[in-house]
Formats: sequence, C-alpha cells, structure tokens
Amino acid sequence: AMFDGLTASLSKAFKGLSADGRLSAENMKEPLRDVRRALLEADVSLPVVRRFIQKVEAKALGVEVLDGVTPQVAFVKVVSDELVELMGAAGSKDLEPAAGGEGSPQVVLLAGLQGVGKTTAAGKLAMFLTKRRKKVLLVATDVYRPAAIDQLVKLGSKIDVPVYEEGTDASPVDIAARGVAKAVAEGYDAVIVDTAGRLQVDEAMMAELRAIKAAITPSDTLLVVDAMTGQEAAGLVKTFNEQVDLTGAILTKLDGDSRGGAALSVREVSGAPIKFVGTGETMEALEPFYPERMANRILGMGDVLTLYEKAAEAIKEDEVEAFQKRLASARFDFNDFMQQFERISNMGGLKVLKLMPGFSSVSEKQLYEVEKKFKMYSALIGSMTQEERENPELLIKSPSRRRRVAEGAGRKETDVSQLCTEFAAMRVQMQTMSKMMKMGVPGQSDE
Ligand code: GDP
Repeated sequence: AMFDGLTASLSKAFKGLSADGRLSAENMKEPLRDVRRALLEADVSLPVVRRFIQKVEAKALGVEVLDGVTPQVAFVKVVSDELVELMGAAGSKDLEPAAGGEGSPQVVLLAGLQGVGKTTAAGKLAMFLTKRRKKVLLVATDVYRPAAIDQLVKLGSKIDVPVYEEGTDASPVDIAARGVAKAVAEGYDAVIVDTAGRLQVDEAMMAELRAIKAAITPSDTLLVVDAMTGQEAAGLVKTFNEQVDLTGAILTKLDGDSRGGAALSVREVSGAPIKFVGTGETMEALEPFYPERMANRILGMGDVLTLYEKAAEAIKEDEVEAFQKRLASARFDFNDFMQQFERISNMGGLKVLKLMPGFSSVSEKQLYEVEKKFKMYSALIGSMTQEERENPELLIKSPSRRRRVAEGAGRKETDVSQLCTEFAAMRVQMQTMSKMMKMGVPGQSDE
C-alpha cells in the first residue's frame, strides 16, 4: 500500500542508531545516509532530499536527548518534524474563503492534465462541500472533449449536484463566467469550474486558464496531479504555479502504490501546498491534506489522531461505569485486568496513553517498560486457572500455585510474586486510566 517501501526503509534507518548515548555527527552518519537513500527511492527529487538531510542533521546535532528517551526516538522526532515542515506545517487549511466576501460563493478553478483524475476530483470536491451543507454548482468548460462534459454531467447527477454546461459551441471563458454568474445570482455557496484536460502542458492551455482565471477571479486555483507520477507531479505544480498562480494542488491516487515522492516534494519544489488528496475511485475518497498525519503515516508510527478517535470510540460510557463500579467494589480481579489490557492493545498499545491528559510527560522508555511488563503479566494471567483469576489471594497464599503459573508462562516464580504485589497498585492505575479515557481530550477536531 501507500508508502510501504518508504516506511520500511526509514524504520531500518532508525534502527541503525545506537540505543543509548547522544546524537553525534559520527553515529548519525549511517542512519542519515539510509534516510537519504529511502527518500531518493521514494522518488523525492535530489535537491529536496539534500536540503532535507542537511536540516535534519543540523537540528539533530543540537538536540539534547532527554532523560528517558533513546537517541533513536529523538532522531525520529526530528525527522518527523522536518517531514511536517517539508509538506507545509503552517496552518494547513483546505479551501480559501470566498473572494467576494460574505454572501458570495467560493469559486474553485480546477486544472490538470488528462487522466490524472481531475473530473473525479471535481465530483469529490463537490461532495466534500455538500457534506458541509454547502450548495454547490459544477461548471463544465472542456469544449474540446464532449465526452468530458458528459462525464461531469453524469457525476453530477450521481451525487445530486447540478452541472452548468453549454455544450461545445461557446468559449470556455464565457461558460465559466456565466456559470459563476449563475451561482452568484442563485445563491450558491460554492462553484467548481472544471477546465480542459490536455495530454501535455502547452501555451494554449496556460493562456486559456489565465483567461478563465481573469474572468472569474477564483478563491482557489488548484492543479490536480497524479501521485503515481512522483517527481513529475511536483514539477507540474511548479510550472502551473509560475504561469497561473495556484493556491494549491490536489494529489490523486494516493491509494495506489505511490512511493511518496509527490506528497513529499510538491510543496518544496513548487511553493504551493497540497490541499487535498484523493484516496480512491469513489466520491467519498477525498481528504484534506494534513502534513502531520501524513508524516505519521510515512514514519509508520500510526496516525495518532485516528488512534485517539478509536480510543474515544472504544470506551463506551456505560461500560466505563460498570468497570468503575467493579473497581470500587474491590471485586476487581485478574480477569478485569486482562480485559482492560486487551482493550488498550486493540487501540494500538500503551502509546495511546501519551494522548491522554496527564500522561503526555511519560517518556517513551517508561512506556516501553510498562508495556513490556504488561505483556508479561498478561502471559502469567493466561496460565492461571479461572479460580485463581477470580481470587488473586489464592496465589498470594500458595507458593506451589505461583510456581505452576510461572512455569506455564515460561517465567520465574518471582515474576508471579511481583504481579501479586503490584496488583493493588495497578488497580489504582487502571482506575486513573479508565477515567482519563472517559474524559477524552478537548479541542481536538478537524474544523
Ligand atoms: P481526468 O481525465 O483527469 O478527468 O481523469 P478522471 O477523473 O476521468 O480519472 C481517470 C481515472 O482515474 C478514472 O478511472 C478514475 O476512477 C481514476 N481515479 C481518479 N482519482 C483516483 C484516486 O484518487 N484513486 C484511484 N485509485 N483512482 C482514481
């Protein structure tokens, strides 16, 4: 799937770092070379890779490796921050507000070569806006290909968005202008103007785009490019940005086995940000582009926001209440512990804890230690009888039971003793945890 190759080679690069000590030019040499190779293999352009590596090195050298964090983690953090920077950190937003101010529609002009997914993107964008309760009008101006107009009309009827078209006899500039005028007159919230797709960049295409742009003063001018074309996509955005001044790009086909080069290069090469990504053929498969999430995906650290949403979903209100009642009633036993542990594992492990208020200062190392311990405990509980799980006291009293449980899990008897002694403390931890999850993190949403 998307970025698999890049993710794998980056994680290999990180493994090259020693597990302790600090980050130095010496011990970063090999990992940096691997990161460089990984990016080049992902089809990121050489100048972009060079600048990226220089920045990472400079930053990583100045980084103080904090207590409880391995140099690896510190290095990954620097790479992650730089990836976000590369793709456009500053206030990532999707569409610009209407140029005509309050009450006038947002006008989006779409350009792109044939076959990149421009018509599909027009439909997806219309759908995206419809979901935000906007009244949307599509405008078809590709007078050179009647089939393109038909395609847009069909798409429009599928998603229930009207399409303004005048067949192939009028000029694209006039159609665009009349389409926007109609949208203004009829109180539409947004107009999406689809333009002619050509096989290659030519002066006629640019001139036409400039003319349409002058006639309708769009709030957004977006170039649709295909992620599968890698560096070439970034180059196209650059050319169009120079010639018609874009507000951004839509990167399509990110669901294919794109190597990542386009997503990583567009902004740095062209100066224009990626605003949306297409991730499939259906009309729903369009997402605003979030550099941070993309960086997380590329690094294979999981999309923490998604994780968080899952965490919120996983804990059902009444379940939490029942659980807390059990905690309070001192009937909390090893079964409850297992159940809770499994739930946390399902959400992607203890790293979800870092997203909870009060836990953000927990270091990666501590988290790792806790997770290791929990895994061992769950193995021990796995080799207990049902009776023992329900009555932790049985184990506390009987060395022979502890030995049997330890053997069953391939551990030592002292591990079982430790589990027993820590059990009381763990109840408290569990209680805190379940409260945290119930509370959630305020103020985290996309809009
Ligand atoms: P246009 O010539 O640029 O208007 O391209 P179309 O919109 O007709 O799309 C060309 C092909 O790409 C069609 O088969 C689309 O279904 C497909 N396509 C468009 N966007 C995506 C995407 O994000 N992912 C995938 N997998 N296919 C896409």
